[in-house]
Order: sequence, then structure tokens, then C-alpha cells
Amino acid sequence: MNPASFFSPDYRTARAKFQAAAKALGAEVATYAHPLKGPDGEDLATDVVRIGPPDAKRYIVLNTATHGVEGFCGSGSVIGLMTERIDRELPANTAFLIIHAINPYGFAWLRRVNEDNVDLNRNFLDFSQPLPVNEEYAKIHQWLVPKNFAGEELETADAELAKARDRLGAKAFQAAVSGGQYAFADGLFYGGTGPTWSNRTLRRILPEMIPDATHVLFFDFHTGLGPYGYAEPINGHPPGTDAYQRLYDWIGDCVTSAQTGTSTSTRLSGTIGGGVMEALPDAVHTKSTLEYGTRPNDYVRLALRSDCWLHNHGDLKSARAKEIKALIRDAFYRDYDDWKELVYVRARQIVRRGIAGLSTQKD
Ligand SMILES: [Zn+2]
Repeated sequence: MNPASFFSPDYRTARAKFQAAAKALGAEVATYAHPLKGPDGEDLATDVVRIGPPDAKRYIVLNTATHGVEGFCGSGSVIGLMTERIDRELPANTAFLIIHAINPYGFAWLRRVNEDNVDLNRNFLDFSQPLPVNEEYAKIHQWLVPKNFAGEELETADAELAKARDRLGAKAFQAAVSGGQYAFADGLFYGGTGPTWSNRTLRRILPEMIPDATHVLFFDFHTGLGPYGYAEPINGHPPGTDAYQRLYDWIGDCVTSAQTGTSTSTRLSGTIGGGVMEALPDAVHTKSTLEYGTRPNDYVRLALRSDCWLHNHGDLKSARAKEIKALIRDAFYRDYDDWKELVYVRARQIVRRGIAGLSTQKD
């Protein structure tokens, strides 16, 4: 089957395809309805299926659309795996939990953030504790999202960002912009002030759907960093831990770590994998981000800045809005058959290795 057929042009189509793929497997879809609607008035929801041997207590959890607009990639991947019956490859002790669109609002509205302008992958923190302070972000916030995103004001902003990048170096600049910040609610990579709908929903889904889980391997699908179509498995654990080593043993030397500087990503605060561990406190966890490349960093950053400006100050019905939405969609989803094939084949490769590793893990 042509892998491009697993992918969808928008959230509504993706949701219907996911439900159809689940039906073809005879799997029941659990729906967690979102309170808001999509741009065409469509319902928004996170849909979840458990697939595999009924007695299995080891789970590969595949999570998609943590970053809304990045959901095209994860959706196509999981629909492909379901359509091609990856469940038939499962040993008796291992099953899948597949979460379609944990941030359905961002997926439908073509935003990386959620309905609150919150970056869900910076939102899994203990909000009763002091929040991380990102001093470098504070210095460049006004240049990242200037009020007037055009003409002289934008030129000045771009020049100031170029100066900051020269001062910090490319990697520290990337960390300042994207590491997460909790001080500017109208800014980029904002982690919020409390658990968002998607955060609370994930914490419901896991104990409701797989309360019996003893071992969990969590893959979170993302796009926007790295070479076109390549999936980089980013280790979700600190170096020196058993879980950190396990991921290398299972997936191989392609695994990277932001903490050792081998990843295209920098260190982040409040990531979703931490929420998975908290939601299933009795299970043994192994977790990885699958980060797929799309466009160069500068292109992706311009798309995020433009979209943030649009939602802060612009008119969502304008011609400019149409342009910006096309830009952000293209920054996180390369709508070409060769990209989709790369995405799917790599997902299948990594998931197969995950099945082999998780099913043979010693207690
Ligand atoms: Zn992402």
C-alpha cells in the first residue's frame, strides 16, 4: 500500500481515517471530547484505542499531535501501522495504546500550541513549585513576537534576533527560544500556569485505558527538527539511568540525547513523557520523542512567530491568515509522497524494534 494514503489533509479527515482503521481491526475507540470546535465547526476530541492480546500488560504507547499541527505525521504513522496490521506482530505479553490527537485543537486550527497558547510539551510540571525561569527568552520576547509583524518593525526585530544569536551561539539561542518559558502568555514555547485540557486528559486516559500496565514504552511523535523525513529518537531519560541505556539497547545507536548534546533538540522543561510516568506510577517506563525533520530551523521559527502574531493581533479571516496557515502547515508537515513514505517506514522500523525490546525486557 502507498504510505501516502495513510496521511490526511486536515484534522477532520485524520480523525475519520483513524476511526475507520480502528473499526477494521475490531478495536473500540474511546473518545475524550474537547470542549471547543474546529475552524469549520467540527467536533474536536482525543480518540484512543487499545490493540493487542487482551491479557498483555506491557504497552507501547503511541502518542500523536502533542504539538497540534505536528499531528499530520503521527496520525499518518499510526493509521499506517494499524492498516498494515502491526498488531499481528505482537507477542502475547505486549499490546498497543494509540492516542490520536492529544491536542486536537492545535491539530485542527494548525497551531503548534493548544487553545490557551500553551506548548503542551512544556506543560507537565508541578505548578505548586517555583517554575523554571528562562532569562534569555525574556530578553528576546519582544523581538520574537513584535506587535507589528511587517515592514520596519519586523526588520528591527529580525536584526535584534540575529544579534542575540551571535551573542549566544546557535545552540544556546535555540535553547533560549524553544526550551520553554513561563512568563509570557502571548509568547512562544509558553508552558502555562496550570495543567491544560490535554494534560488533564492524558492523565485520565492512561489509568482508564491501561490500569494494568506493568511496562510502558512511550513514543511521542513530533516534527520540525532535523533532516527531511528522518526520525530522530530522542532519549527521554537522564544519562546514567537504566531507562536511558534501555533505549539505546532496544532502538540502537540512532538514539540521541539533548542532555549529552547529541540531539537536534535542546533540553526542555515539563515534557509529556514525565506526565505518562506520573499517570502510571507503578509501571516501569521507557520513553522517547520521535522527532521528524521538515524544514530548516529558521523557516520553522518564522512560521511559529507569524502564527503567534496572527493569533495575538491578526484577523483569522484575512488573506494574510491564509498565507500564515499555509506557512505553518508546510513547516511541520511536508505534504509530499516521498516525505510520507520516509515517515511511515521509519515509524514502523522503530516501533518494531520497540516491540522486540519491550516484550523481552526483564522484570
Ligand atoms: Zn513537537
